[in-house]
Amino acid sequence: KLPRMGEYLCDELCRIFSLQSATLWIAAPPMGQLMSLAASGITVEDSEQTVLLAPDDAGLRALTRGARPMPSSQLERAGGSLAVRVRGAGAELIVPMLSHGRLAGLLLLGAKKAGQRFVAEEIDLLKLLASQAATVFENARLFESATFEGLTGLYRREAVLEILDREWSRSIRYDRPLSIALADLDRFKWINDRHGHLAGDVVLQRVAAELRAHVRETDFIGRFGGEEFLIVLPETQLDGATQLAEKIRERIEAMEIAIDTGEPLKVTLSIGVAGRAEVKADGKTRARPLLQAADSALYAAKRNGRNRVE
Ligand code: GH3
Ligand code: MG
Ligand code: MG
Repeated sequence: KLPRMGEYLCDELCRIFSLQSATLWIAAPPMGQLMSLAASGITVEDSEQTVLLAPDDAGLRALTRGARPMPSSQLERAGGSLAVRVRGAGAELIVPMLSHGRLAGLLLLGAKKAGQRFVAEEIDLLKLLASQAATVFENARLFESATFEGLTGLYRREAVLEILDREWSRSIRYDRPLSIALADLDRFKWINDRHGHLAGDVVLQRVAAELRAHVRETDFIGRFGGEEFLIVLPETQLDGATQLAEKIRERIEAMEIAIDTGEPLKVTLSIGVAGRAEVKADGKTRARPLLQAADSALYAAKRNGRNRVE
């Protein structure tokens, strides 16, 4: 995960170079945004979480062109809004992370604990390290965007199906329980028609966050379709999965979702659950029969009046 990688990098930089602080800003294309990903030695204020930069920001251009660590005083002379933000973060040395000539992120290094200056060998080492780190973080970012879905941060359909197949094999191999829950928002088309797609998207985000808050860290949630969620529950029997689904259904029913355009919205979920012990399957079909069972249960929940678990 990117934040954990970022924390590791900042901690190690502080340790190796005896720094008071290190902060990692990561570029979030294509909008020209820099986001504070991790920090060591200082706490990052919420107001400093993101920096929006013009593509022709003078400081940014100087860093990209120079392609090497730059003292913050020099960055300030270049001008632009990046320099202002960097000063606010109390950085002494700014190290651009370049991947194929493109800015992947920035390392903001604080002063050394004993107050010494950075020597030439250290600057060279930091330049080398930053170019390695740029590739690693760029790859990790690409992996994350291929695995997680942008609106809700949940697993993409393909990713959660892959996880399901892996858990299916594992549960058969070791004879362990496995269940799934397939949840679909009720009458969601109406919410979009009535309040607009932006409100619909806010609802999806809130529901996704609520789902995440109620499952174990060892469970997996994917956005399976537009307003459909697949929850994979390893080491869980059908009755446990049913209890969880019921709890989730109640939580969503109780939720009030604030939107810009008026009264808070209320939504409900229909959920179909299925357990491996209850479905007939052989090794070849993989998790297909389990999904089909959950889908039939979901369909029954809709048919039987919605806002219910089957
Ligand atoms: P049911 O209770 O039978 O599930 O009714 P429904 O209206 O939820 O079901 P239906 O499958 O007919 O419609 C799903 C709707 O979900 C269609 C679309 O308006 C909405 N939807 C799907 N994906 C998104 C999305 O990414 N954003 C928004 N805002 N809406 C979406
Ligand atoms: Mg629906
Ligand atoms: Mg649907």
